[in-house]
Amino acid sequence: MILLLEYYDEKVLVADFMCRLYERGLTTILGGNISLRVGELVLITPANVDKGRLTSNQIGVISMEGENLTPNIKLSIETDMHLSVLHNRTDISAVIHAHPTTATFFSTVDTDINTSLTSEAFAILGVPLKAPYAPMGTKQLANSVSEAVKKSNVVLMENHGVLTIGENLLEAFNRMEVLESTAKMNWIMKSFKSKNYGKNLSSNIKLSGAKLF
Ligand SMILES: [Zn+2]
Repeated sequence: MILLLEYYDEKVLVADFMCRLYERGLTTILGGNISLRVGELVLITPANVDKGRLTSNQIGVISMEGENLTPNIKLSIETDMHLSVLHNRTDISAVIHAHPTTATFFSTVDTDINTSLTSEAFAILGVPLKAPYAPMGTKQLANSVSEAVKKSNVVLMENHGVLTIGENLLEAFNRMEVLESTAKMNWIMKSFKSKNYGKNLSSNIKLSGAKLF
């Protein structure tokens, strides 16, 4: 059992990033979830609460085996997915899942999001991977997404949304925000007919950009 004030600073951080996710329009009021590894434990956002007004006392704490150490808090339905991702990527601590409109649209079509349009996008996102569809809140979804994160820090969950990871919440959040911005740029690019628009970076520029991050 975890006391209310244990991991207080980290819980504040998780709640704050969840509120910012909602305020930035990257998810809907009940959608999306965030987890943060703290030592051997994981902090995670709850299910069915107003994500725009989340506070630290609503953040759940679980073991890496999935035991809920805050039984009074109903955990996110995607808790299995977060744990599987953290098990498969021991080098990262933060996981963010959201439903940003434009990037999520790209999860429903066969067209990939081109991340080679700007140096920032390529350096921060690399090449996003698509995880095959599985119903939300299921073990199959946890397996599908946690396989994809072995090869990319940015996963488009087919017909569902996006998952980003990072060494910390700032890095994972940045990937989410840059992905949505890049998806919008792809959308704009497709509205131009001229082939002079939307030129990809040359491989030299890609390499010099990648060194900055
Ligand atoms: Zn979702």
